[in-house]
Amino acid sequence: MLKKNIIKGKCVDISSEGKGVIKTVYGVVFVDSLLLGEEAEIEITYAGKGVSYGVIKRLISKSTDRIQPKCPISTACGGCVFQNASYEYELRYKKHKIEEDLKRIGHLDNVIVEDVIGMDNPEHYRNKIQVPFGKENKRVVYGFYKAKTHKIIPVKQCNIEDTKSGPILKNIALLMEKFHIDPYNEDYRTGIIRHVLIRTSLSTNEVMVVLVSNVDTFPGRNNFIKELVTLSPEISTIIFNVNKRDTNVILGESEKTLYGKGYITDEILGLKFNISSKSFFQVNPIQVQKLYGEAIRLADLKKDDVLLDAYAGVATIGLLCAPHVKKVTSVELVKSAVINAHNNAKLNNIQNIEIIEADCTEYINKKLPHFDVVIMDPPRKGSTPEFLNAIKTIKPNRLIYISCEPSTLARDLEILSDKFTIEKVQPVDMFPRSFHVETIVSLKLK
Ligand code: SAH
Repeated sequence: MLKKNIIKGKCVDISSEGKGVIKTVYGVVFVDSLLLGEEAEIEITYAGKGVSYGVIKRLISKSTDRIQPKCPISTACGGCVFQNASYEYELRYKKHKIEEDLKRIGHLDNVIVEDVIGMDNPEHYRNKIQVPFGKENKRVVYGFYKAKTHKIIPVKQCNIEDTKSGPILKNIALLMEKFHIDPYNEDYRTGIIRHVLIRTSLSTNEVMVVLVSNVDTFPGRNNFIKELVTLSPEISTIIFNVNKRDTNVILGESEKTLYGKGYITDEILGLKFNISSKSFFQVNPIQVQKLYGEAIRLADLKKDDVLLDAYAGVATIGLLCAPHVKKVTSVELVKSAVINAHNNAKLNNIQNIEIIEADCTEYINKKLPHFDVVIMDPPRKGSTPEFLNAIKTIKPNRLIYISCEPSTLARDLEILSDKFTIEKVQPVDMFPRSFHVETIVSLKLK
């Protein structure tokens, strides 16, 4: 076994979480921020049987893809594993990861993976942030939790978040000091403000601020809100959310709108979506247009098609497809998303959509209804063999699988591959600087 000391090694691969991989006689070492081909002295931070972890102590040879991170806390935060690499390197890695998983997990050897559709400027894209507040040296601080801890690393403006959020957070911290509103202290369960959630709309420029509090109200709350909207007039709505539980879940059940209409509106490919504090909504408003645009183009929809939108969320995909087909059925498990989906259908005056609250596997196996086209967009854990086998039984002409996790995508495609031909594998980078990648696969009935 490796000891907790310094070793020398060369990066020969990249792990599924974007870390550099070094091979030793004792097994592999995953190294933060080490790029392919680089040689370094590595300090072992965790020595395990076969798998160890380390950090760069001294770089011996440097990759031409290495860049100076634009974020000062990228290593400590752990959210962006590619801040120190060129964007081209990141996109190459993401394509490689999908190719590897299709081969290794899906046993699909002859599938071509297209180049990843990236962003022109892979920065400041996130339209939703949740920031913990705390206190250090008697000052209010906010930022990110240090990777795998609850210690706050202060940061003024994150490199991937909408730039509107930084100044608003600063004003909130200023007002908390002025009004003597203490941040929540997890250890003693005292204080008032736990987190601040900010959602922004790229298309309407609306901004939602959610103050997540440990108490039902606080002294001077009305004046606090008045001063906040004076300092940050770009805020459209402010919500007060109460979360008294000792939990990692950020939002509590009860909430009250203190300013504005309580939701913001965003637009995707011409359709409007109302977003409340808890609604699921894609976090990259620029790439989502490319993702859905490409998925719909590949679905090759016809006027008399009947479409299943499985794992529908707030039915974004179903609603975007509805004008092109005869009928859409959107199926989603989570009640609040289903309610949002109904509202979104009304908001856009779309009538040829049926929205069903159900588990996709149960729904499809109950009656095995016929669909001409199926678009499925499951969560990271992928779909189920029972759902996929039912799809093989109902035989849609076309199937579009949108996935945010290549390993489960590969597993599921193997199940489908005897009845469907994989026509195109098109990755889209929804989360630049992180190791996550989204993939659209278009399949045709054999
Ligand atoms: N297509 C949507 C949402 C994709 S996220 C969009 O692009 O916005 C995946 C969704 O699948 C989530 O909304 C999740 O609640 C839902 N989901 C997870 N398991 C499910 C299941 N077994 N049956 C139905 N929906 C499920």
